[in-house]
Amino acid sequence: MFDFDLFVIGAGSGGVRASRMAAATGAKVAVAESRFLGGTCVNIGCVPKKLFYYGSHYSHDFKDSKGYGWDVDSNGISFDWPTLRDNKTNEVKRLNGIYQSLLDSAGVELIHGRATLLDMHTVEVDGNKFTANKILIATGCGPVTPDVLGKEFIISSDDVFYLQNLPETIVIVGGGYIAVEFAGIFHGLGVETHLIYRGTNILKVFDLALGEKLLEQMKNSGIHVHLETNVVSVAEQQGGQRLVEMDNGIKIIAGQLMYATGRDPLTRDLGLEDLGVELRPNGEIVVDEYFKSSVDSIYALGDIIGTPALTPIALAQGMAFVDTHFKKKPRVLDYANIATAVFSQPNIATVGLSEELAKHRYPKIAIFESEFKHLRHTLSGSDERTYMKLVVDETSDKVLGIHMLGAEAGEIIQGLAAAMKAGITKEQLDSTIGIHPTAAEEFVTMREKAR
Ligand code: NDP
Repeated sequence: MFDFDLFVIGAGSGGVRASRMAAATGAKVAVAESRFLGGTCVNIGCVPKKLFYYGSHYSHDFKDSKGYGWDVDSNGISFDWPTLRDNKTNEVKRLNGIYQSLLDSAGVELIHGRATLLDMHTVEVDGNKFTANKILIATGCGPVTPDVLGKEFIISSDDVFYLQNLPETIVIVGGGYIAVEFAGIFHGLGVETHLIYRGTNILKVFDLALGEKLLEQMKNSGIHVHLETNVVSVAEQQGGQRLVEMDNGIKIIAGQLMYATGRDPLTRDLGLEDLGVELRPNGEIVVDEYFKSSVDSIYALGDIIGTPALTPIALAQGMAFVDTHFKKKPRVLDYANIATAVFSQPNIATVGLSEELAKHRYPKIAIFESEFKHLRHTLSGSDERTYMKLVVDETSDKVLGIHMLGAEAGEIIQGLAAAMKAGITKEQLDSTIGIHPTAAEEFVTMREKAR
């Protein structure tokens, strides 16, 4: 007889969803958490990042409003970092409370502390031992920073949410989601922002045009972009400033140096290796399609199993895990055509295949493209451009990929992702009547093939 039917390690998006749903089937469930309820997304990821994004975007809105007759300069606009930071923190605390009550009302026992596995059915938290029929690991990821001289002076996105002071200058390293989003956020908040990327085009996992066009707009907006560049060292100067030296000889003095060079699974020190749980070299837990690891009673889901590290995926995995193991309805998750957004300025959102991938997989594809100035910017004076692309299989007429750079791209692509999931064809898109005047209507009016 075990203490619990399910013991979950990690109360983030996936862990909490799995705990609550399993408890709702009548199972006895515990979840152990050593830091904060809600995991990365609620505390140091999606939610506070989006609040910072909104805060940052006001600077563009104030500028844009002049063409509409508003006189913001003489009103004395100013920005107060502690207000944004602390209001964000209060909202995060409110969400932590909601997570606590969700667990309480589901009857899940929350155990505060760091859990380790003693054997395939026993977990220890701060000296207390608990047994469980099934153990689910949902510990998420943490930032990885390459070895650089002066590494101790580097911060990650985990730290920026609680900065004491807003730096006057920041250097951000990386060309993925986090680097690009925070470059936009800091720039919008008035910080001189340098983005250092080792390659030639940012966001290389997406359709290449998105990264190229975003890069152009980031540069135009005043972000200093250094491509094909690496940081070689960082040193602390008097007054706490960082002296950042790059391999092209350029030196920058900045208040902060932030690395956003990927996040690795937090699966070390759990005792998994000793139990024979198979891990990949980067710490990902190898699981089957029902989230079972190489040890029968141990399961894993979320950012640590090599599927895309996105909150909605962890939530969906939590539900599929419970359906399979607690409701006797085995369900394999479909990872095709998952939409995703980058909250860069302007936003990027995308679903399906990039032009480059589609070219490899389909004998004949058609590309439809549109680039234009949003109606809003006809009076604002902003030179922001909106870009849209459709990738279509010419043989079946099925839409294979939908990509957008522009305001509210995430809001627009979400609906189109549902259409793609339903197998929409280009002809069906063309026969859809647009909503006028919107940017989104462009997706149903692209008639001329670009390639
Ligand atoms: P990403 O994997 O997206 O990007 C990492 C970046 O760091 C890449 O540009 C990579 O370069 C670069 N890099 C890696 N190693 C080095 C190195 N040694 N030196 C210099 N540059 C290096 O990771 P992030 O940290 O940005 O984000 C982690 C994950 O979190 C994302 O993949 C995403 O799943 C999730 N996330 C999702 C968000 C959203 O949904 N909006 C927002 C934020 C995060 P290269 O391209 O050359 O490999």
